[in-house]
Amino acid sequence: MLKIDNLNVSYGAIDAVKGISLTVNDGEIVSLIGANGAGKTTTLHTITGLVPAKSGSITFDGHDLLNTPSNKIVTLGMAHIPEGRHVFTRMSVQENLEMGAYSLKDQSGLQKDLDRVFGLFPRLKERRHQLAGTLSGGEQQMLAMGRALMSHPTMILMDEPSMGLSPLMVKEIFSIITRLHDQGITVLLVEQNAKMALSIADRAYVLETGRITMQGDADDLLHDEKVRKAYLGA
Ligand code: ATP
Repeated sequence: MLKIDNLNVSYGAIDAVKGISLTVNDGEIVSLIGANGAGKTTTLHTITGLVPAKSGSITFDGHDLLNTPSNKIVTLGMAHIPEGRHVFTRMSVQENLEMGAYSLKDQSGLQKDLDRVFGLFPRLKERRHQLAGTLSGGEQQMLAMGRALMSHPTMILMDEPSMGLSPLMVKEIFSIITRLHDQGITVLLVEQNAKMALSIADRAYVLETGRITMQGDADDLLHDEKVRKAYLGA
């Protein structure tokens, strides 16, 4: 379980996250929605140690993440799929996937892990020798997800997986998130596409200029008048 308590994060004089608290229980999909600049990415970056917190606490399965280096956080079972995917463009699809397994002490299951990822993403299998930089945006998103899965995560943090993708590809990516969830992986999903994010989540939080302003059952939020007006264009 992930637990964030009263987290504050600043960039110099800018307070990006102002006292947020949230939990993600084992097996849940929780969405964090909000407009540009609300602090969603900052929250994910603080969880995985890329940005330091000013105060507050973050624990994952009882481990204090604020005092754990990023490379160690991966070994605790948490994988971060960043905004913009950040695949290694000059490496092949397969090499990118192998990079995802670097944190595993026992690499003997590498082929099995590759087969599992290729089973989930047949398109990556077809293209396994292609340079990652030449993949389409949707394929790069699949690769970023596949690379994260190579580290055997129990929880994944996803930042704007729908960004820049066609509606059809967004549907495909979200159906894969649901399949990962069905396999028991816990998901914290950051999205501007509130409709998709709420439709697959169990629970959700709304972040506005660094503060959580609403939270609850995702289905309730999907039908909430304020959320519909502000985030669903209703
Ligand atoms: P988006 O959906 O546009 O990615 P977001 O909700 O993820 O937005 P953040 O990227 O977390 O928002 O940004 C929150 C605030 O912190 C913004 O005001 C942003 O300008 C600021 N910020 C983010 N990164 C930095 C940085 N490295 N230096 C200074 N300010 C930053």
